Amino acid sequence: MFVLERTYDFKELTRHNVHTHSVLSLCAKREMTLEAMIRRAEAEGLKTLAVTDHSDPGDDIDTYAGFLAYKEQLKRIETPVRVLIGAELSAYGVGKFGEPYEVDKALDFASYSHIHYHLDSWEHPEDRSPRGYAAHELAVLNALFETDRADNIAHPFSPTKMHFFSEEQKAETLAALTDNELGDILEKGERAGCSWEIHTPTFLQFTAFSRRFFHLGREIGVHFCVGTDAHTLSALSPAGLAERLAAAAEGKRLP
Ligand SMILES: [Zn+2]
Ligand SMILES: [Zn+2]
Repeated sequence: MFVLERTYDFKELTRHNVHTHSVLSLCAKREMTLEAMIRRAEAEGLKTLAVTDHSDPGDDIDTYAGFLAYKEQLKRIETPVRVLIGAELSAYGVGKFGEPYEVDKALDFASYSHIHYHLDSWEHPEDRSPRGYAAHELAVLNALFETDRADNIAHPFSPTKMHFFSEEQKAETLAALTDNELGDILEKGERAGCSWEIHTPTFLQFTAFSRRFFHLGREIGVHFCVGTDAHTLSALSPAGLAERLAAAAEGKRLP
């Protein structure tokens, strides 16, 4: 289900952040309490804040318990910000999902990672070339879109977690996706009611791909949303990135 209106205006897109980690994610700074995040979002003029803590196979995080605790806390926090308590769930292989369907559906926002290849529990393709990984990513997404689990794809196609690849090979995993493949999967996601995240670190780095991703998506009419993958309060607002993101969507890199 889409949680945001369809828009291609970066000023509007950057008033919502759909990818943030609170203290429930071990990798987040201890300053990332729910209340501190909400207050910071307020101060930055954000309209939407989605909290998406990790939920990977083999982690010790009880996603459902965390969700209930935050929903309880939220009752005592007054704010004009629309706060969604979700999770960064895992599609850790073709047809493999980290949480039971009922937990997914209980959340305000089910954002899926399909590329946490740095984790031991993640399925890898037999063909470990950049093209092999691109094909595997598509297969994982195709299987995910056969279900109605995903509200969003977190950092789609981002090669940043592929530490076993050089920077060149990382870019090759993106170039290996043809326009046809990319168009087909974007359309399939849209039909499945799933938005595509503009993951700001990836989008600003791999601008040749950002341009294709953004223009194909707009042509098809997909829902985009912006996520900074914030692990600190200073990274909570994407508002200051609007201009650089708009340039990246044209394949350019602003300083
Ligand atoms: Zn992630
Ligand atoms: Zn994340």
